Parts: sequence; C-alpha cells; structure tokens
Amino acid sequence: MSDAPTYRGRFAPTPSGPLHFGSIVAALASWLAARSRNGQWWLRIEDLDRQRLRPDAESSILNTLEHLGLHWDGPMLRQSERLVHYQAALERLLREGLAYPCGCSRADLVEGCYPGTCRSGLPEGRQIRSWRFRVPDGEVTFIDRIRGELTIDVAHSSGDFVIKRADGYFAYHLAVVLDDALCGMTDIVRGADLIDSTPRHILLQQALGLPTPTYAHTPVVLGDDGRKLSKHLGAPPPVLSDPGTVLHDALSFLGQRPPAALRSAAPARVLAWASENWDEAVIPRLDQASERWH
Ligand code: GLU
Repeated sequence: MSDAPTYRGRFAPTPSGPLHFGSIVAALASWLAARSRNGQWWLRIEDLDRQRLRPDAESSILNTLEHLGLHWDGPMLRQSERLVHYQAALERLLREGLAYPCGCSRADLVEGCYPGTCRSGLPEGRQIRSWRFRVPDGEVTFIDRIRGELTIDVAHSSGDFVIKRADGYFAYHLAVVLDDALCGMTDIVRGADLIDSTPRHILLQQALGLPTPTYAHTPVVLGDDGRKLSKHLGAPPPVLSDPGTVLHDALSFLGQRPPAALRSAAPARVLAWASENWDEAVIPRLDQASERWH
C-alpha cells in the first residue's frame, strides 16, 4: 500500500519582503485547504532570483507564519538548494527536442508573445542568451477549484517561454513544476495573479511526464490605488500585535463568516474555527464579464 498523502499543499513565498495582507490571504487559504482535509502543508522559499531577495525577508516571513499559527509540515525547502533538479530537467528537455537555446531578448517579443525566431536554430551572429520551452500547438484546459473551467492557448498568448534566463537563473515556471512534483504536491492553492502561468505549468508537467495537481487561485488583494499589493510596497498588517484580527480579516476577504466574537482571539482558536468551517465554494471569484472580483 502506498503511503502517499491524499492531500499535500504548500506555500511558496519569494523572500522579496515581509508578507503583506495579500500573501497572508494566499497562505491562509492554502493552509486551510490542507488542514480541513487532514492534509499536509509544506513551505518552500522561492529564492532563485538573487536580484529580488531582501535581507531578513525570509526570517520575517517565517516569523509572520509562526505568529499566525500557520505551522508547516515536512522540511522547509529553498529553491537555491535544488538547482541540480532544474539542470537535469533542462538537459532532458534539450535532449528530447522540447527546449532550445535562444538568442533573443524582450525586445524581440511581439505583443508579449515570442515569435519563435530561434525555434529551428540560432540565426547567424546571435549568441545564446536563454533557453526556451517549445510550446505545442493547441489549447490547454484545466478546472480551477475557485474559477471553474479555463482554457488558454499558450502558443498564441505567450509562445515558447523561457525556462533558463539570460542572467543564468532558472525561471520560476520550470522550478515550480519540478518542486511541486518532486515533493508530491497534490493540490496547489495560490494567488490569482499566477493563474496565467498555470497552463504553462501543465504543459511542462506533460513534457516531463509529471502529474498535474489540482489548482485553486484565490482572489488578489488590491491596494487603495487598485493595484495588486506587492511585498516591497504594501504596509505590513499588525501580525505581531494582533494576529487574530489579521486572520479574521483574511477569512472575511475569502468570503468565510468567522463569528465576531473570534475577532482578536488567539490564532489557534480562529484557525480551529476556520478549519472546521472552511468552505471553498463561497470564495469570491472573478466575474469573467466585468473582470472584477465580487
Ligand atoms: N513565489 C511566488 C510568489 O511569492 C508564488 C509561487 C507559487 O505559489 O506557485 O508570488
């Protein structure tokens, strides 16, 4: 009998700054999705892009999760320690003709889509800058547990995408797909800002013979200016002084109805209520017609 978990999820922050309210919402949703199913919840630090790292961000993130009572299972992983897996996958894709070296830069994209200039070899005089995944023709359809069925034609929206960058770093898309599969993730819950990436991840999973987990993309928290909060800009919520209220607010944002009496309660009490009453069906979803969360 296999001892594979029936549910294993994760939170995968980039240590580019302290967690803001939007990243706490995503962490809480993935924690609750796991705990409400008696599943595991792992933590992975996505520290590949050294340019984006901020000193102390990792310790601040861990401290915030601990204050909120969002405890994780398994070993904490750091992507910077897993380069050997990414390199092996890149070599396999190259061997199988599913990836190729590319000499183009952003300036060569046409309306955000790579036109395939280096698909059948580098043009004369171009040097290798990056490596791209060869995207097959056709649409990718998947069911998002919050948004429902989504279909994207990757070949026409982004085209062949970078899996190892010109600056030498492995791209997020390759690393996330390998880590989720190698760590046995069954269910991914993350912010909807990443929803456009999911079809690319599914294509990479298929090319590498890896299983596709289920996906749920939680609504993005917008700042007063109507833009997504970012780790280095957003004001940090009062996690240290009042973690119960932060959890209460995050639950309300996710459409849950925590009792008012739990506001400011100890995190363990708020989380016990939330694990018991977690309901993915009431999470606000994007209205495709108006492109607004409601
Ligand atoms: N590292 C990404 C972020 O901090 C999340 C990646 C993921 O959950 O797949 O936004």
